[in-house]
Amino acid sequence: MKILVHELGAEEFARQVEEEFAHFVTLGTDFPQAEYDRIAAYFAPPPFETGLSGEIDRSDPAFALWVDRQVAAHKAPGYAIANISLKPIGGIPGDISAEQMDLVADLAERYSFDELRATHAQNLVLPHVRKSDLYAVWQALDEAGLADVNLDLVSDIIACPGLDYCSLANARSIPVAQKLAERFADIDRQRDLGELKIKISGCINACGHHHAGHIGILGVDRKGTENYQLLLGGSGAEDTTPAKITGPGFDEDGVVDAVERAIERYRAVREPGERFLDTYRRVGMEPFKEAIYG
Ligand code: SF4
Repeated sequence: MKILVHELGAEEFARQVEEEFAHFVTLGTDFPQAEYDRIAAYFAPPPFETGLSGEIDRSDPAFALWVDRQVAAHKAPGYAIANISLKPIGGIPGDISAEQMDLVADLAERYSFDELRATHAQNLVLPHVRKSDLYAVWQALDEAGLADVNLDLVSDIIACPGLDYCSLANARSIPVAQKLAERFADIDRQRDLGELKIKISGCINACGHHHAGHIGILGVDRKGTENYQLLLGGSGAEDTTPAKITGPGFDEDGVVDAVERAIERYRAVREPGERFLDTYRRVGMEPFKEAIYG
């Protein structure tokens, strides 16, 4: 597309797109019913059982913690959605070993109608688990080191492969994610901070969605050295907003410190129950800039 825009010029490119779109509209939308049915069959719900218990036995405190953070409501009575964190503290975001993947595939087969989903946030989901099976699923995940309880918390970081693996990168993403997760390893501190989405990209291609992070980090090349721009206030949710750059960039350790300063400022000025993103939207960039740059 970039080449086409370059060759045609932006205006001519836009004109041709409009022309093509107008042509498609004339084709009508009255597709054959068989085609609708063929597509709909891919989205048919699995054969849910009825009459299942809606209760979850929360007598094991560690299991109850996992349920509170990792399990979401399901539209079918008696079922739940189990999110599997691939964000152990100090690990590579989204990484999973072959043995762990085998186990998760077995769990999907046994407990989730053979269905497993990968999310853009680099976690996995068992989408249809009977509530009465959650404890068995959690035990198996726990034994395999897959029962972290940090969904949407500060250590649930999205990071692209960055300079460690990507030939387009300007800077490494993974070590920054690891250092940040280690800095905020304390689970009580994470829970106190609440929902906080950090997203890291190793270059402007933005595979880590840094521009949509409550806190975004973008790796850039600064005269041959890795440098990191810090961004605040992005959201990729229904209330979408692009993040804004705070100011001059940092080296690897510097950006970790800068993130911590921004988060500490959030703690100082937040109102009860207010998320980082909502505090930023209420008070604006200035108090954060002051904390970050002094
Ligand atoms: S954002 Fe850049 S460095 Fe990261 S995976 Fe995409 S192209 Fe590679």
